[in-house]
Amino acid sequence: MPSICIDPGHGAEDSGAVGTNGLFESLAVLDIGLMVRDILRPHMDVIMTREDDTFVSLPERCRVANNADVDIFVSIHLNSATNADANGFEVFTSGSDESVRLAGNVLNAHALTFKNQRNRGVKKQSFHVLVNTAMPAILWEGCFLSNRQEAEWAADDSVRVSMAQAIADGVLAYFGIAESNQELTLEERVVRIENHLGL
Ligand SMILES: [Zn+2]
Repeated sequence: MPSICIDPGHGAEDSGAVGTNGLFESLAVLDIGLMVRDILRPHMDVIMTREDDTFVSLPERCRVANNADVDIFVSIHLNSATNADANGFEVFTSGSDESVRLAGNVLNAHALTFKNQRNRGVKKQSFHVLVNTAMPAILWEGCFLSNRQEAEWAADDSVRVSMAQAIADGVLAYFGIAESNQELTLEERVVRIENHLGL
C-alpha cells in the first residue's frame, strides 16, 4: 500500500498569509489537508504533520515524514505576494525526477478542476521541507490570499472541497490508482492515462 505524509503549512501563532478578507492560510490549509487525508485514506497509508491548529517547526515536519519512511510528501499552502494582482496556482519541487512527476500530476488535476484559474506551472525551489525530506516532495500553492478575488474564493467551503479533491486526484494519478466511485469524462480519462505514462 502506498503511503503519504500530508503537511498543512504553518499553524497557531504562525498564521502564514492573511487574506484580504482576513482568512488565515494556516486554517484554510488545515481544512484542505484534512479533506485530502479523508479522500486518500481508503487508498493508502496517510500520516499528517499536524491535524489541528498547532505550531510544528519545519525540521519536525521533515522528521515526521522521514521517520515514517513514507513514499511521498505533500505540503499544502496558499500564496501571498506584495503585488495584489498576482494570482494563480503553482506546485514547487526540489527538482528530482520523481518529485517533478508528482508535481505534474497534482498540477494537472488542479488545472482540470479549476479551468479558468491561471496555471503558473511546476517550479523548482529549495524550500526547507522539499530539500530535507527523503522522499519525492512537493509544495502546492493553491491561490493567492493577497489577491482579493482569490481570497474570497478560498473562503468558500465548496472551493476548498474541490481543491482537496484535485490534490487527491493528482496523488492517486501519481500512484496509478483510479478512483472507482467517480464518473470521469473522456478528457479526464485521457489526462489520467497521460499522467500514468508520465507524458
Ligand atoms: Zn505558506
